[in-house]
Amino acid sequence: MQSNRTVIRNGRVIDPSQGIDRVADLLIADGKISEITGSPLERAPDGHDVIDASGLVVAPGFIDLHTHLRDPGYEWKETLETGTQAAARGGFTTLCAMPNTDPCQDSAAVIDDVTRRAARTGAVRVLTIGAITKGRQGKNLAPMGELAEAGVIGFSDDGDPVSDPNIMRQALSYASSLGLPIINHAEERSLVRGGVMSEGEVATRLGLPGVPASAEAVMIARDIELTALTGGRLHVPHVSTAASVALIRVAKSRGLKVTAEVTPHHLSLTDSWVYGLHGEVPETVPPEAYDTNAKVNPPLRTAADVAALIEALADGTIDVIATDHAPHAATDKVCTFNEAAHGINVLETAFGQVMRLTHAGFISLPELIRRLTEHPAAILGAETGSLAKGRAADIVLLDPDAEWTVRPESFASLSRNTPLAGVTLRGRVVATVFGGNTVWDVRTAAAQTEVATS
Ligand SMILES: [Zn+2]
Repeated sequence: MQSNRTVIRNGRVIDPSQGIDRVADLLIADGKISEITGSPLERAPDGHDVIDASGLVVAPGFIDLHTHLRDPGYEWKETLETGTQAAARGGFTTLCAMPNTDPCQDSAAVIDDVTRRAARTGAVRVLTIGAITKGRQGKNLAPMGELAEAGVIGFSDDGDPVSDPNIMRQALSYASSLGLPIINHAEERSLVRGGVMSEGEVATRLGLPGVPASAEAVMIARDIELTALTGGRLHVPHVSTAASVALIRVAKSRGLKVTAEVTPHHLSLTDSWVYGLHGEVPETVPPEAYDTNAKVNPPLRTAADVAALIEALADGTIDVIATDHAPHAATDKVCTFNEAAHGINVLETAFGQVMRLTHAGFISLPELIRRLTEHPAAILGAETGSLAKGRAADIVLLDPDAEWTVRPESFASLSRNTPLAGVTLRGRVVATVFGGNTVWDVRTAAAQTEVATS
């Protein structure tokens, strides 16, 4: 039983939304932030539970604008319960659930069901994204007003693009009157033509059909023009190419309401990871040489694309880091590369992956945290992602230097599909507090494991 007062002691409190970066104590009362002290208190105040954050960073809980929770319809891959537990371990206290469920999130009834069940069984907050078109078929608009009333934070047919430009025009118009963004999976399908990875040398050596980078850029260019035409709000998900970055940069300079996100994998992995050797390039390629866990849409790209994405994240062209957490069962991945499902399991590895950018000097820790908290909160228009007094006590404790090895078999997620198995990451989520309650603490989890195995 936790008391209604908690103090997080002696941490380096970083809250980009208030420009705070100092060692302090953070006080919580009744599930809300009550105070950040000027410096650590001499002793813990009476009647408070104490969470020790000495040597750790204390930041707002992360917000993920792009999560596939697979529930309802694909509960063998993930559920609202397991997906939110994975989120807690990854430091995320708010998730935005993509609508490619079954039934699809294209009606108020399904949104209500997800919202209600998530509130009951979820370890963290789940917000919903409504479909743009009925059944995500790209033909007729979903009841967007009804979905907005049910609480969706935006609209997307993610997994599939809205290919018809006129439907996209209408969607941007209607969504803008509702004050919500359209999140269009940017992929011109006529250019994909059965491609399963990025077009280039690796695809050629492996004999796999490739997808040109322009399949993404062509769609983003179209969507930017339709945003200009309608005055709507466009949020570009999982940007993966240098060409896309250039288009978004120009759109922003034109003053259009365009925002963008990038995933941890597109920031850190290239198409060489498809070889299945953790990015090493083999001299010769045996026929079975690939890792289906590196199959993702959009595909992993070249080192030049990765460099452009990092630069764009640092200079603000890309606003946020979002996971595109896409859990899949083993049976979706233990097959040929052509047959394998697209998607990487990201929530539990995300922070360790993106901390690489800070360790390499590309972006400071406060700016990295800003792209996981304040910036996604601004896109949501939500009162999260901040440690301001009175806000929900959604907090993450981070050890930026802790090294740990990715063991998919110990994921909270129901699925294991990551190409990072066995990889050591530097940067770890130590504990996550949601609404004042500790929903993950690696220190007590480790102690429990010791008791269980001794
Ligand atoms: Zn997508």
